[in-house]
Amino acid sequence: MDFNLTGMTNEQPASGEKPVKVLVIGSGPAGFAAALYAARANLDPLVLTGLEFGGQASLTFAIENYPGFPDGVGGSELAQLFQKQAEKFGAQVEFDTAVEVDLSRRPFRVKTYNATYLADSLIVSTGAASRHLDVPGEKELIGRGVSYCATCDGWFFREKDVVVVGGGDSALEEGLFLTRYAKSVTIVHRRDQLRAGAVLQERAEANPKVKFIWNAVVTEVIGKDAVKAVCLKDLTIGKTWEHPTDGLFVFIGHTPNTQLFRGQLDLDDKGYIKVDSLQRTNVPGVFAAGEVADPHFRQVITSAGMGAAAAMEANHFLDNH
Ligand SMILES: Cc1cc2nc3c(=O)[nH]c(=O)nc-3n(C[C@H](O)[C@H](O)[C@H](O)COP(=O)(O)OP(=O)(O)OC[C@H]3O[C@@H](n4cnc5c(N)ncnc54)[C@H](O)[C@@H]3O)c2cc1C
Repeated sequence: MDFNLTGMTNEQPASGEKPVKVLVIGSGPAGFAAALYAARANLDPLVLTGLEFGGQASLTFAIENYPGFPDGVGGSELAQLFQKQAEKFGAQVEFDTAVEVDLSRRPFRVKTYNATYLADSLIVSTGAASRHLDVPGEKELIGRGVSYCATCDGWFFREKDVVVVGGGDSALEEGLFLTRYAKSVTIVHRRDQLRAGAVLQERAEANPKVKFIWNAVVTEVIGKDAVKAVCLKDLTIGKTWEHPTDGLFVFIGHTPNTQLFRGQLDLDDKGYIKVDSLQRTNVPGVFAAGEVADPHFRQVITSAGMGAAAAMEANHFLDNH
């Protein structure tokens, strides 16, 4: 194999392998912002959407904290707008998923279900996925009362009683959303105070449908074909009891989608991709943006900002190579 002065191989693509200047893995706010910036830099980016078009943001009913939308915007509507804007400048969007990557040399090889791409630079924006409780009954009752998305499933719980697990922004936001449908929303939190922002806390406390059970965890989900109750354990006195409910919504955080990159990109102890202030990973030419590299902010705007930065740095990298 020949190497040229830039360190890139002179290998010719095998038939069926598609060369791309910038390959963006992920179609959340980070991925689409990266695609927009790369497209406007004439880098002809290609976006792999993965299974969740629009990313986590597309699951949510209303986003009220993304600038430019004073009346809020639906998550899936925002995703479609992101796509439209990126495509307008030449980004290509493929409804496909990366299943294998080889970052050991450039161009980077990314296999999907339908193709193999040879990418001169790569922007990883695979985001994060909801964390499960991992208690008996939870997995068996997913879709039959256990949910990780109020926007998707809230409608099924009209005039029902539901339990929400978690104490952060997502738990309160989604819990408040559920009050539009449910008769009652009981928030179970393992501590005696919430992590959520003050405005959300005030809204939840003021809502007559919202109740709280403090210092408690769910230890089992009970039901055969549908959720009937959850077993709760009081962490201060060890007491356990059955709490009847029609649904269980779990909002206890996220795990970064980095399995694909293990052993090739440096990850932190929680599995997030390590990046420097310019969104660069340990592999020159590979950038990471959004929640896949951000355990801290986890917002649409910060993820989109990182996507834009990653694309600008990819442009800079390609200019120099
Ligand atoms: C219920 C809920 C409500 C929220 N509400 C708000 C809000 O009101 N305001 C706000 O600012 N933030 C909100 N957030 C957070 C916000 O949605 C995220 O911070 C943001 O979506 C992260 O963007 P991202 O692009 O980094 O990743 P994600 O949105 O997680 O997108 C990841 C993308 O990667 C793709 N992908 C994963 N693996 C692969 C693969 N192997 N190949 C190809 N593609 C792949 C997925 O399909 C997806 O398109 C909310 C989150 C949730 C869950």
